[in-house]
Amino acid sequence: MAVSKIAIVGVGKIVRDEHVPALAANPAFKLAATASPRSTLEGVDNYTSLDDLLVARPDIEAVAVCTPPQVRHVIARTALLAGKHVLLEKPPGATVSEVENLRALAVDKGVSLYATWHSRHAPAVAQAKAWVEAHVIAKVEIVWREDVRLWHPGQAWIWEAGGLGVFDPGINALSIATLILPPFFITASDLSFPANRQAPIAAKLEFNLQGADAMTADFDWRQQGPQTWDIRIEAKDGARLRLSLGGAELEIDGAPVAQTEAREYGGIYDRFADLIATKAHDVDVRPLVQVADAFLLGQRLTVEPFHD
Ligand code: NAP
Repeated sequence: MAVSKIAIVGVGKIVRDEHVPALAANPAFKLAATASPRSTLEGVDNYTSLDDLLVARPDIEAVAVCTPPQVRHVIARTALLAGKHVLLEKPPGATVSEVENLRALAVDKGVSLYATWHSRHAPAVAQAKAWVEAHVIAKVEIVWREDVRLWHPGQAWIWEAGGLGVFDPGINALSIATLILPPFFITASDLSFPANRQAPIAAKLEFNLQGADAMTADFDWRQQGPQTWDIRIEAKDGARLRLSLGGAELEIDGAPVAQTEAREYGGIYDRFADLIATKAHDVDVRPLVQVADAFLLGQRLTVEPFHD
């Protein structure tokens, strides 16, 4: 099996929690270097910029871009221009058109571009998709409510323009929904912005889902106590499905369905290895389009200031 030497750009929480262990477990990759302004990883070459890395390590074949979204395009573009295969953490960019720009560049350079959606690799998602395909859907309710202080402590970028605010987790729900449901589009969007922030802390969305009676989403970062990452679906024949914990658990008609222990990032790097081997692309912007539409239609509500 060919082994790709890979570098990570942007060493933060998700890199330490998920990318490093997933790469260590995958024989198709060797993590060889990082580029990050301040943070480093033990046991690899660390640089403070991608430009320095590319000069020092021309042997690197692939780059995983794990920075905040606002700086992702310039980094990914630099890597593609240098002929590297590129993996993008979610969201794939700060805008839809910058992702399309990267897709065109990757095609032009003949390298692979993979816009990842980690939640699509959650253990129960494939079974939920099969259930949806076997039913006529009546109603979908997405409830994604978490405590921002718990999951995003000190992340200033997430509150800035382009940081997505509550859509940073909410886009994970939309990445599952766009994969498993019939086509849908947003019809109403209420966005709650803290008076001192550039990104919403909550969003209430309504959708038109092909053939269904109702579809809603409730994203909220002010959740205390139990956290909720649920997609609840009712079929026209009364059957019910509940995908919970972000796609890790599944209930059908109230009864739990056993899941394997599959890790989301293991699936991501398996897919990236396949794409590199076949010089293929996987760039699905539908979840980001839904978020962009939520901002386009968004009714702005100002709520109390948010302090870390
Ligand atoms: P984070 O902890 O704030 O880490 C981001 C890192 O990016 C920072 O540590 C910073 O490195 C680096 N960075 C910033 N600007 C850079 C630049 N111009 N060039 C190179 N590196 C730069 O954020 P995170 O939680 O890991 O999230 C990163 C991305 O992963 C986001 O898009 C997020 O949506 C996604 N994600 C996060 C999670 C999660 O649970 N946290 C889950 C899935 C996906 P320095 O420390 O060196 O300054």
